[in-house]
Amino acid sequence: MTRPHQAPSPDAFQSPPISLSDILQAQRRIAPHVVQTPMRHSQTLCEKTGGEIYLKMEHRQHTGSFKLRGATNAVLSLTDEQKAKGIAAVSTGNHGRGLAFAARNAGVRCVIAMSELVPQNKRDGIAALGAEVVIHGRSQDEAQQAVDRMVAEDGMATIPPFDHADVIAGQGTLGLEILQDLADIDTVLVQLSGGGLISGVAAAIKGISPKTRIIGISMQRGAAMHASLEAGKPVQVEELPTLADSLGGGIGLENSYTFAMTQALVDEVILLSEEEIAEGVRHAYWQEEEILEGAGAVGISALLTGKIEAPGRCVAILSGRNIDMSMHHKLISGEMVTL
Ligand SMILES: *Cc1c(COP(=O)(O)O)cnc(C)c1O
Repeated sequence: MTRPHQAPSPDAFQSPPISLSDILQAQRRIAPHVVQTPMRHSQTLCEKTGGEIYLKMEHRQHTGSFKLRGATNAVLSLTDEQKAKGIAAVSTGNHGRGLAFAARNAGVRCVIAMSELVPQNKRDGIAALGAEVVIHGRSQDEAQQAVDRMVAEDGMATIPPFDHADVIAGQGTLGLEILQDLADIDTVLVQLSGGGLISGVAAAIKGISPKTRIIGISMQRGAAMHASLEAGKPVQVEELPTLADSLGGGIGLENSYTFAMTQALVDEVILLSEEEIAEGVRHAYWQEEEILEGAGAVGISALLTGKIEAPGRCVAILSGRNIDMSMHHKLISGEMVTL
């Protein structure tokens, strides 16, 4: 499933819409609020792949994922007037957790709208991070209408999960941290869904080390960015349940940043089956002693499949740990998991 799409043009990374200097600024802005996560050498993955493999332990970030970086940068970049009015968004996942935490940290009101169908534990999780939870309607679209109203009538700001310059710059700080810890990197493995993470990380890394390969990893079930790269423009794909649930969702047909940046900066995209994703979660637990959600483990999965040709000195980002623990237990016990 390795598919080298069009090679990045030699000067594509000279002037991405989010530049290295935006990312350096973001790093200064968010540094007091985020964990500089450790990088670990993985002996078992070196033995299995013949490469020199490092794991960037971003699942140890506050709120359990890198989404905190982009959310914090975006919240701190609001004007004083916007901060006074607060932010509103729809997200029960890692973006919502990041926003709630970032807003509380900055003393900004944060309202997260959810549909009635969102389970109580997810509502409680977001509320525990300091957000006001508003339940509206029976679908994500209806919850979005509540947010649209708060934006139109109360002047609240909304921060999208990936296609936003401050969010991308914030995620890019992860790329800077990787380069601060390790020089001469051949390959970086980055989760790819909406593309906020890979756009920021690739802008940082290619900006400093243009020869480093950036490989995006998605699941076979509903890889919207991959389908869009193939089509040469943003397209919709059917959303399907997947173990890498944080990688689900579209890229937006009106995509402003992440489609173009991914097209220009990413060298290759690899797709994984559900069983391959499960194997990554299992390896993380039994061999690395780390608890990861499906999306968090896909870099490890990709290495285990042998689909990464000549990884060399290679960093895999572990992007998140927020998994239902009974699901995790089933996965690591080797039980069949039906979604
Ligand atoms: C959001 C998310 C991703 C994908 O990030 P994009 O910016 O949407 O590509 C990967 N892993 C985890 C854990 C996430 O929460």
